[in-house]
Amino acid sequence: MQRLHNFSAGPCTLPDEIFEKASQAVINFDGSGLSILETSHRSEAFTEVIQKAQSLALELSGLKNKNYYALFLHGGASFQFMMTAYNLLVNKAAFIETGRWSENAIAEAQYFGKTEIIASSKDKNHTYIPKKIQCPSDVDYLHFTSNNTIYGTQFKSFPQTEVPLVCDMSSDIFSRQIDFSQFDLIYAGAQKNIGPAGATLVLVKEDILGKVTRKIPSILDYQKQIKAKSVYNTSPVFSIYVSMLNLEWLVRQGGLKVIEKRNQEKAEMLYHEIDRNSLFKAYAKKQDRSMMNAVFTSVDSKFDEKFLNFANQHQISGIKGHRSLGGFRASMYNALGIESLEKLVNCMKEFEKNTN
Ligand code: PMP
Repeated sequence: MQRLHNFSAGPCTLPDEIFEKASQAVINFDGSGLSILETSHRSEAFTEVIQKAQSLALELSGLKNKNYYALFLHGGASFQFMMTAYNLLVNKAAFIETGRWSENAIAEAQYFGKTEIIASSKDKNHTYIPKKIQCPSDVDYLHFTSNNTIYGTQFKSFPQTEVPLVCDMSSDIFSRQIDFSQFDLIYAGAQKNIGPAGATLVLVKEDILGKVTRKIPSILDYQKQIKAKSVYNTSPVFSIYVSMLNLEWLVRQGGLKVIEKRNQEKAEMLYHEIDRNSLFKAYAKKQDRSMMNAVFTSVDSKFDEKFLNFANQHQISGIKGHRSLGGFRASMYNALGIESLEKLVNCMKEFEKNTN
């Protein structure tokens, strides 16, 4: 089968070797005589898998032996919009509003208490990241989104706060070296840099829990999930298994240091072409551009459809922009090879030549 160059924002591409290993496990998981799809979440074999995945997540984030837990839960990142507030919001939480996902997080938190938007990029349709953020000390926590998947903006440095810091890292977790210990809770849907959709990673520092007095339904309670070692109910076994394989792959690549360099190279290649090419322009302000999602438009919308078709003919998939913005979005997560970027850049050059 000829594989396409997949620039999708998520679910996104995974390394070829992971697709192969995962498909073997669907037939016969590690020679057990069972498919991974029929393997019990309480089996010894899966216990080993989830523990390995948890351990790799803590290792990659440098949070091992630092009082953090790694949970692999259901429900996607959207579930965490509600679950973080359920567990942490006593009176008021602060938010940085940088696009759709942070807006959704604010809307869900409003079910549990007061919310205060302390910085926003709404005035310029989320083309930039607010700077010099001052967080009041009378809030229970500050929530923000490290990478704005739809608008292609990314925090390069993080707010300094006295209060706990909660971060939606769905679209840039494990893509670069950062000090993860500045965050008290990090969550990310698996379907970008972790693995296939179905699992959500939560890295949580134990001492921020247990402060709210409201009763929390068991499945939504981080403390109960920690006690159950992340297997409170039937886990998304396949998603966690493939996540484990993918995190192992990341370690084999040389970890976050190596992947960051590769991601930088890929992003530079594409942004350089967007800036050079007379037919395209970037959406986000230069200094805030995302290394993961490059959002760009045609200088004239009459080229949109034409370029999409042209790219499709060249085995390029997933570059249609988000429905709220139009144009194009090329997502360059960890597993996307440099050759896919070369392909896209050449395609943009050729399209320009054919059009002029
Ligand atoms: N946050 C961010 C930054 C996202 O990119 C997404 C989805 N692309 C979500 C949250 C929502 O994730 P899910 O579909 O897993 O709920």
